[in-house]
Amino acid sequence: MSGVFASLFQDVLNRVYIMSKKKNKNAMKKKADFPQKVCPVCQRPFSWRKKWAMCWDEVKYCSKRCRGERNFSG
Ligand SMILES: [Zn+2]
Repeated sequence: MSGVFASLFQDVLNRVYIMSKKKNKNAMKKKADFPQKVCPVCQRPFSWRKKWAMCWDEVKYCSKRCRGERNFSG
């Protein structure tokens, strides 16, 4: 096995590594930029969902459960 082949192989490995890194960076950048709200019951942030497209302004709770819990405690 010659040293030239080994260095070539290493070069290919480096290229593959760099390419995969770039791909990951793009995937990170594609993270959704939907609007977010904080649920007043569980204090957790939740983001826009398609089912709320028509009523996002009125959405206050992250889930039916949180909405129900507020009613029970109030
Ligand atoms: Zn909640």
